[in-house]
Amino acid sequence: MDLFEYQARDLFAEHGVPVLDAVVAETPDAARAGAEQLGGGTVVVKAQVKVGGRGKAGGVKLAHGPDEAATQAEAILGMDIKGHTVHRVMIAQGAKIAEEYYVSLLLDRSNRRYLAMASREGGMEIEQLAVERPEALARVEVDPIVGVDAAKAAEVVEAGRFPAEVRDQVAAVLQQLWEVYRDEDATLVEVNPLVKTEDGRVIALDGKVSLDENAGFRHEAHAALEDAEAADPLEAAAKAKGLNYVKLDGEVGIIGNGAGLVMSTLDVVAYAGEDLGGVKPANFLDIGGGASAEVMANGLEIILGDPQVRSVFVNVFGGITACDEVANGIVQALQILGDEASKPLVVRLDGNNVEEGRRILAEAAHPLVTVEPTMDGAARKAAELAAAK
Ligand code: GDP
Ligand code: MN
Repeated sequence: MDLFEYQARDLFAEHGVPVLDAVVAETPDAARAGAEQLGGGTVVVKAQVKVGGRGKAGGVKLAHGPDEAATQAEAILGMDIKGHTVHRVMIAQGAKIAEEYYVSLLLDRSNRRYLAMASREGGMEIEQLAVERPEALARVEVDPIVGVDAAKAAEVVEAGRFPAEVRDQVAAVLQQLWEVYRDEDATLVEVNPLVKTEDGRVIALDGKVSLDENAGFRHEAHAALEDAEAADPLEAAAKAKGLNYVKLDGEVGIIGNGAGLVMSTLDVVAYAGEDLGGVKPANFLDIGGGASAEVMANGLEIILGDPQVRSVFVNVFGGITACDEVANGIVQALQILGDEASKPLVVRLDGNNVEEGRRILAEAAHPLVTVEPTMDGAARKAAELAAAK
């Protein structure tokens, strides 16, 4: 989960990383009030969107006093930055910048390590710096067990060739950022720019944080950081039911067990749909190992709640949960849903106890259900049903 800059700033502040005072505003009036609250002097008005390069796009503006803050907020609110609409601005205390640096901590999956990156040439987009002048971007491995202690921080500062007068401050910030990284279960903590002000202080001026959602269970506070406005309502409903669901832009609802099987189901449906005017899968939904009636009913309910869906393809390979249990799950799910189940279902079952599973479905003879013996045949049937209406 990526955070907004103001949320990253709050986490930084909690862990002692030096940041500037700031408030969040959703209207020009609130921006004016915020600037007053910050003392009425020079402030920066910053678009809160989860995308970099806001400065270049006109989403970061200086304002001399509260009235100008309101004017700048008016210009920035509603702006489209790389496809992200600005609903909020952050009003931050203005800083007199002498130098801009870059520091980050991230998960380096390929090396099974954490990585610290640092450069005394911050401000610009770091991807560009990495390509154009890779020698200016220091990369230092971080042992996950040890983390960024004083020695590691000194090593990073040395490798990043930071000016002598800021080395101690940058090293301290690196250790505080490590606390954010470790204690919040982040996968990325980035500061660009980390600045030296004209009076010699080192401050994190812009922060980017990604949190590991798999660790959400041990961070009650993280749930509140989720961007409810941006979440797809079906995805939010599925998440609330504990389902692995991703909304896609097609007409054939998909339910399967196992991520690999579901991924290949998406492929075969898209392939079958090519000849039928471009019928496509409507979602990814992996119901995992347990295809109980309840899980099946929950999955079907989410998929049938998608107005774009015209048919549903249930593709299950019976393993530990055998086909007869899955078939019973489907029959009971349709009973639970009653009239809510209104779209044709194509079922392909294979694997453990398949004969019994098919027998159960044949016996139930639900008017909406078609059983197909093969995955390709079922994909074609589901795509045809979606195209026919
Ligand atoms: P980004 O473009 O999305 O990365 O947004 P940043 O928050 O990094 O801001 C872009 C640039 O605006 C920074 O590199 C600074 O040069 C400038 N900037 C941001 N805040 C201030 C500030 O308080 N004072 C001054 N003078 N410049 C700022
Ligand atoms: Mn930045």
